[in-house]
Amino acid sequence: MATEEFAGKIALVTGGGSGIGRATALAFAEAGAKVAVDDIADGGGRETVRLIEQAGGKAIYIHADVRDENEVQAMVETIVATFGRLDFAFNNAGISGGARLDEFWDSATFNDTFAINARGVFYCLKHEIAQMLRQGSGAIVNTASVSGMAGPGHPSYVGAKHAVVGMTRTVGMAYAAQGIRVNAVCPGAIDTPMVQRVMRNNPANIKLIEAMHPMQRIGQASEIADAVLFLCSDRAGFITGHPLAVDGGRLAG
Ligand code: NAD
Repeated sequence: MATEEFAGKIALVTGGGSGIGRATALAFAEAGAKVAVDDIADGGGRETVRLIEQAGGKAIYIHADVRDENEVQAMVETIVATFGRLDFAFNNAGISGGARLDEFWDSATFNDTFAINARGVFYCLKHEIAQMLRQGSGAIVNTASVSGMAGPGHPSYVGAKHAVVGMTRTVGMAYAAQGIRVNAVCPGAIDTPMVQRVMRNNPANIKLIEAMHPMQRIGQASEIADAVLFLCSDRAGFITGHPLAVDGGRLAG
């Protein structure tokens, strides 16, 4: 249902062609925003646009690799050229990084994971904020993870997600007085293709992953979308620099 505060506003979702990104792009559109869907998997990105248009919303697809600063800058320029401004950005593109034991110290995995999950967020913040400063307003949400707040996992993914939380705090403070809010969501395990790939390798993992969450279940992508829209909304007007856990209680212990 369209709401007054999202109607006609412009939202960017990186990694919008799948999982959490797609669910959030659909939620922005349902709330009345026009959505720029970024991805490098063109099929998924275009399908998200099709789903939004099918539901009566407005969206464009932009192929931009968040590892490449020039592509990120061009993405923001395309959004401004098309829609005139950028009100909300969800910096969500990411990979799971190493999952196997033998990848713990794998330098290539570390470099890939940092390039997308951390440096990609840095490039997005840099160019989104440049535009939001010109407008004098904007709200940004980064996708961190419970792995951005606690140690279990691999250094590549946990390190990159801690970097996202750190940047959220620093950049949130730096622009707080200029009308730009920057927050993060820290999802627990969410039912997306990323997690389905891990679970497919070993069905026993499903029970193990569920049991990590006090609610004894994994989350839905729409539950992250709800948190992102809240953080972008005026109801979160006094919240910035904050990593919000959406994790079935996992970080509470
Ligand atoms: P997903 O694999 O379903 O979707 C990720 C999307 O990002 C894909 O469409 C992919 O093509 C895109 N992408 C990858 N590299 C990119 C790049 N360089 N430039 C642009 N797009 C790129 O995964 P998901 O589960 O929806 O994950 C989304 C985010 O949520 C990630 O940052 C992930 O680390 C984070 N996260 C996921 C979970 C979970 O349990 N699913 C938990 C915590 C955090």
